[in-house]
Amino acid sequence: MKKIVSAGGIVSFHNTILMLKKFNGDWVLPKGKAEEGETLEQTALREVFEETGVRAEIKDYLGEIEYAYKNSWNENLFAQKTVHWFLMAAKSMSCTPLRNEGFIEARFVHVDRVLELIRYEDEKEIVAKAIEHIASPEN
Ligand code: ATP
Repeated sequence: MKKIVSAGGIVSFHNTILMLKKFNGDWVLPKGKAEEGETLEQTALREVFEETGVRAEIKDYLGEIEYAYKNSWNENLFAQKTVHWFLMAAKSMSCTPLRNEGFIEARFVHVDRVLELIRYEDEKEIVAKAIEHIASPEN
């Protein structure tokens, strides 16, 4: 089985979190595959910038999630993915979706609305942890 390592960002700006809308209507968080020689932090920052145009800085490591999925063009090919998530702070709210990857919108969504847009339970847990950090008085 193919093993993929990926990293992404829960990118905050005040009480909002950066999300991307895919062509099929799903809302997702910016992330992507690690390139050779990169640290996970570099992967996460690069993917956030490539997919949304947002420059951010890493505040914390939030944890990893793992899942297996079937390749969309070959049902017999399984991939096992590990995604490492970082809490990040954006420098501004301006963002642009990477259209040639199928993203039609990038938006900072209020923390009260983010969890209902996220599809997978393991990702919800990571985002809930990020929201606790954002809401804590030291931030
Ligand atoms: P990227 O280039 O950002 O890694 P991708 O679209 O190629 O993105 P995924 O977002 O990992 O890859 O999606 C691949 C498949 O896994 C899709 O069918 C998706 O619905 C599913 N998937 C995504 N996140 C999870 C998750 N947390 N748990 C289970 N399945 C997931």
